[in-house]
Amino acid sequence: MNTALLTTRWQSLPERAIRELQTEKLRGFLRHVVLPFSAHYRELFSEHALDADSIRSLDDLRRIPFTTKTDLLNTSAHPQRAKELVLVPDRHVLARRPATLLRALACGRSRVREELESEYRPIFLTSTTGRSADPIPFLFTRHDLANLAMTGRRTFEVCGAQREMRLLNMFPYAPHLAFWQTHYGGEAFGVFVASTGGGKVVGTEGQLRFIRKIHPDVLIGMPTFVYHVLHQAVEENMQCESLKRIVLGGEKVPDGMRRKLLSLAHQLGARDVDVIGTYGFTECKMAFAECPRGLDAPSCGYHLYPDLGIFEVVDPKSGEPLPPNSPGELVFTPLDSRGTVVLRYRTGDVIDGGLTYAPCPNCGRRVPRLVGNISRSTEVREMHLDKIKGTLVDFNELEHLLDDCAQVGAWQIELRKRDDDPLEIDELILHVAKHNGISKAQLTRELNERFIARAEIHPNKIIFHDSDKMRALQGVGSELKERKLVDHRPALNPNSGAGVPPSRSPARVSLASPSVSGAAAPLINLENAA
Ligand SMILES: [Zn+2]
Repeated sequence: MNTALLTTRWQSLPERAIRELQTEKLRGFLRHVVLPFSAHYRELFSEHALDADSIRSLDDLRRIPFTTKTDLLNTSAHPQRAKELVLVPDRHVLARRPATLLRALACGRSRVREELESEYRPIFLTSTTGRSADPIPFLFTRHDLANLAMTGRRTFEVCGAQREMRLLNMFPYAPHLAFWQTHYGGEAFGVFVASTGGGKVVGTEGQLRFIRKIHPDVLIGMPTFVYHVLHQAVEENMQCESLKRIVLGGEKVPDGMRRKLLSLAHQLGARDVDVIGTYGFTECKMAFAECPRGLDAPSCGYHLYPDLGIFEVVDPKSGEPLPPNSPGELVFTPLDSRGTVVLRYRTGDVIDGGLTYAPCPNCGRRVPRLVGNISRSTEVREMHLDKIKGTLVDFNELEHLLDDCAQVGAWQIELRKRDDDPLEIDELILHVAKHNGISKAQLTRELNERFIARAEIHPNKIIFHDSDKMRALQGVGSELKERKLVDHRPALNPNSGAGVPPSRSPARVSLASPSVSGAAAPLINLENAA
């Protein structure tokens, strides 16, 4: 089977061909790249009596044990965990391969040496952004950078970019995937990209200067930050009629946030704007995009690259793989990675529409797509609303609720202990900038009703702020990523206040706990900190 078809025809293969070619490519990747050169997976496969030939179809993927976030963290037994996941080629193994020998005969030994260097020597990194744990570096070789450029170019294509467009890359300048995917993608696509470095580098004012100067067709950045910049632009009575797309990454994008961004774009004089979401994460070293869909049409999901990786959707509790179109946790296995390689990586991200192989009803591409909303299991946290037992609260739901509310501008949820006493119960404080001239009393009533209806809890306190104060609270211009959920509770034990590890976290948490409704504070204070 010619697995090169997966690349040359990446957007036009039927499901059966994709699955067969991916199986073949995975076997080759395991046999020639991962098992000979990854200390971690060589040992793991040997422990489980597996080899490359154990994978006869994609269903056999389940035989490979998961890799989780915990497997990436350093421990006393494994102080160099991240290093153990990096491919270290054995020159003797490479030198004995017929392909290497033939290539050396044809092109000379030094050429072959250079090619192998370029394939295996790490020369670049991005890292995870975890707040609780140390960032984990993911190493790229030249081979990976070529793939990063290719996935960037494809992302631009799926988003409907055109060469004559001007793009403003507002992602933070950091060793983070989003910034570099945009940088390399722009270069590969051959389009003008001004990378501002985000709020921490040039500030909100700096972004506005760029917008005035280059009249961008496309803004690319994190939803919360782009929202702040456009909000400020509207406050300063700016115009940006050139704007055609807002491409978002780094955070999930609730529909309410899309509507708010569209409304701001309209106020800036931009008429036909598409808001496009992307999905990517450090461990997969690439990003995937939605195609433009026009106003009010449903999303067609994230378009995947079948030649570069395999997504599975599994039951978040049992880990069992689920059939197409089922909601569940996303698990990723790369097919062409070098440097740091993780197999069957459990993302902790739950998608509610699942994976589909149906051709995209919008752009017609035949690629696997991830459909629906993505929630992060780290945003399901335990709260002690009474002193008897904890309750899991799904902050993904609260985020949708707040972004869906047209009268709410920027917001932040703060978790504290009552009176800052570590032995007291938890409190939820909501910070809000209000919109559209609604009164504080009215918005407080509405928010309480929405919280109760959707989450069966309500804020202990709602505090209203003006836009400047909200920017300061969220850390716009001072943080790499705006803070929308802050946890000020002291950690009494390792389980309190920490994110729920993916293996234990339910996909959808029922908030119908009998302890909740009675314990959530009945008293709502109105305060104006502005
Ligand atoms: Zn499409």
